[in-house]
Amino acid sequence: MNEQRKRLKEDVKLSEITLRECQSKFVDDISYLIGFAYNQGYELTFGEAYRTPEQAALNAKSGIGIKNSLHTKRLAIDFNVFKDGKYLTKSEDLKELGEYWKSLNIKNAWGGDFKNADGNHFSQSRNGVK
Ligand SMILES: [Zn+2]
Repeated sequence: MNEQRKRLKEDVKLSEITLRECQSKFVDDISYLIGFAYNQGYELTFGEAYRTPEQAALNAKSGIGIKNSLHTKRLAIDFNVFKDGKYLTKSEDLKELGEYWKSLNIKNAWGGDFKNADGNHFSQSRNGVK
């Protein structure tokens, strides 16, 4: 990882910046998560990042998500995570990544902590939504 690289807006409260700035801060944090994951021997593929409000409403109806999902705000991403060639589907297998993700930013939430655990989900809360 480039030591010279500066993290975005570290000193600014996320509630005081615009959604667009939050989205870029989220991507910046995600880039650190990706680097950490590979350094720890994980491999990732992208799952869902942006989700339309229409899709979020359908998911909520069928009980597999919430209507105001942070995916609709471009503040959440799902990764498919692999280690030693094995697809990790249990949240507890991703705890190391979740803990690292939360250590990056007080606003970062990990799906593995949710009531319906969703360990491949990494988001940045905004206006109280996780
Ligand atoms: Zn998700």
